Amino acid sequence: MQRLAINGGESVREKPFPTYNTLGEEERAAVNKVLDAGILSQFLGTWSDDFYGGPHVQRLERAWEDFFSVKHAVSVNSATSGLYAAVGAAGVGPGDEVIVSPYTMSASATAPLVYGAVPVFADIDRESYCITAETIAKKITTRTKAIIVVDIFGRPAEFEKIISLANAHGLVVIEDCAQAPGARYEDRLAGTLGHIGVFSLNYHKTIHCGEGGVVVTDSSEFAERLQLIRNHAEAVVAKKGVRNLVNMVGFNYRMTEIEAAIAYEQLKKLPELVKRRQENAEYLGRALKGVSEIEVPLLPEGMLHGWYVYPFKFFSDRAGVSRAEFAKALRAEGVPVGEGYVEPLYLQPLYQQKVAFGKSGFPFEWDGYDGVVDYSKGLCPVAEEMHFERLLVGDWVHAAMTFEDLDDIAIAVKKVVAAYRAV
Ligand SMILES: *Cc1c(COP(=O)(O)O)cnc(C)c1O
Repeated sequence: MQRLAINGGESVREKPFPTYNTLGEEERAAVNKVLDAGILSQFLGTWSDDFYGGPHVQRLERAWEDFFSVKHAVSVNSATSGLYAAVGAAGVGPGDEVIVSPYTMSASATAPLVYGAVPVFADIDRESYCITAETIAKKITTRTKAIIVVDIFGRPAEFEKIISLANAHGLVVIEDCAQAPGARYEDRLAGTLGHIGVFSLNYHKTIHCGEGGVVVTDSSEFAERLQLIRNHAEAVVAKKGVRNLVNMVGFNYRMTEIEAAIAYEQLKKLPELVKRRQENAEYLGRALKGVSEIEVPLLPEGMLHGWYVYPFKFFSDRAGVSRAEFAKALRAEGVPVGEGYVEPLYLQPLYQQKVAFGKSGFPFEWDGYDGVVDYSKGLCPVAEEMHFERLLVGDWVHAAMTFEDLDDIAIAVKKVVAAYRAV
């Protein structure tokens, strides 16, 4: 048996793994064009021709609509802004509840708060790590207005059941697909599975323009409200003839021309970049399949995962070593790995202490809210198990990674489990 690097043995991998960089000559040329034109943003926050932004912003939106086969795409300056705008467009307000996942980036749960609504956490599924129709159903009350479903790690949630549940209760489904551009379930692309979909274009995502996002919907009513919230709604509604003033307090969520020009080039690259992730994930899944100490993701027939990262379960009882020790040993072999993903969001001080806006407990403990929301430890046992005990994630399958790189990862995983098996 080989001596582990953590115990002074030779590591499987000396050189660092390739880094992911999707920018090239196309983006450079696109940026130069914007610079030559000299207009870095053409938005005006008044009811005018420029209310919808400049040529690059609009070209990106039309291309996004084509690619995803949706009626409306509204660009924004981040997916966080996009989630906020989506909740606003859905008409959510103080006294309402919005059902969210605890196992996600924090903005998926703060979006309801921004509109004075209370986030209610539903547990995730052990296989998909997404909230499901079953876990959502347990949390629906007369106060529920919307559901924010996250395609976590790039895997589309089970939307068919979620949509029928939501439709039966008149709820708006917002799909946070920041991690899943290009993922697919049967014939539908992630982002188009809910009533409103929110994409991220931040630097860490599959395609990016530094910071940015795109919100999609087939509803022209939602689209108009998204466009208004993006761009100083209150200053525009009178001239535009908008009568529904609910949540028409606007923001500046506008994307710049340079970002839009870069995002337009990135979108063209998306199919190839996702395909490479899928090939890599399949290859790695095969390579790790027989290792009984871990479980790699299994996908239902007809699902194409976006593989933002590669998640897998680790069983310390089978391995005879803690997850922390296993991760440390793997890192010593030259393979970076993360433990647990994010802490279930309700464990953040914001929820534990119920302090959001001001000091009086709004919106959690407020006269206009007649529910009692639970954020206690143990609330979502599966999310807690995944975070504290079970899950490991690797940024291992992006397009710059080769099969040789993946071989090293598999060799390192097998070397480490074999060493602890022998103890
Ligand atoms: C990255 C991310 C966001 C936020 O994206 P930004 O564009 O950085 O605001 C939201 N939700 C999920 C699941 C994410 O991964």
